Amino acid sequence: MPELPEVETIVRDLSPRLRGRPLRNPQLFKTDVLRGISSSRFLRVLRNNRVEDVTRRAKHVVILLASGERMVVQPRMTGALIVYDRRLRADERRYVVLRATLGNGSILVYRDVRRLGTITLLDQARWEAYTARIGPEPLTSEFTGERFIERLSGTKQAIKKAIMDQRRIAGVGNIYANEALFRAGIDPSRRTDLLSSDELHRLYRTVRHVLRKAVRAGGTTVRDYRNGTGGIGSYQRTLLVYGRGGDHCTRCRTILTTTHAIDGRATTFCWRCQSVAR
Ligand SMILES: [Zn+2]
Repeated sequence: MPELPEVETIVRDLSPRLRGRPLRNPQLFKTDVLRGISSSRFLRVLRNNRVEDVTRRAKHVVILLASGERMVVQPRMTGALIVYDRRLRADERRYVVLRATLGNGSILVYRDVRRLGTITLLDQARWEAYTARIGPEPLTSEFTGERFIERLSGTKQAIKKAIMDQRRIAGVGNIYANEALFRAGIDPSRRTDLLSSDELHRLYRTVRHVLRKAVRAGGTTVRDYRNGTGGIGSYQRTLLVYGRGGDHCTRCRTILTTTHAIDGRATTFCWRCQSVAR
């Protein structure tokens, strides 16, 4: 699932290719990805609208249009937002949900195999309400260790669940929560309110570290994730625990454990390196 680093990569790829371009002849082949807008109104707003800017908020791609509206795309498990500067191959055409030509021979495509992703169109007021519900961006300079601790205060939830809660902190999902907790030596099931200030500061540093490194690597491709030009990321080579259940811990050689008991998602950890008394 695209998390902060994957969506950041998509945005960096798309931004120079979309900025200033008109969305010509937009076509929507499946309407079930739309949220809060009819397909006819969606297409009417898009048609010949110009892209002013492409940014990221949490795990969402935000395309600001000249009309002032924002098209917000959340690719989730199987979606990909790609600009092609050539004709699409048959296999690439297969799962196209939305396409528009950009007036320079390039094509913007939103493709989604299982259509788990969503697209919405927000005016300024609805955008402000939308973004206000999401927590702060963890890679900004204003996001200090104190801010991190403050966002996690007052909850008995498992720490892994708390750092993945988008209302508390933006952009962290299952992959980077697993990785950051391992690097910080914290048991993912620990109660957030029982963690020490030292542990939280350590986790603050590892969360930022894995997100930064993954942005630099162009994200993690484990299944369907593709960047904004259809390529793959490389952070999967750096993963220490995610997807490695049953393998040896890189630090102590203990067999890594995978559990679904914390939040229904796969949590992989080392019971030795991530125990309370370490
Ligand atoms: Zn270990």
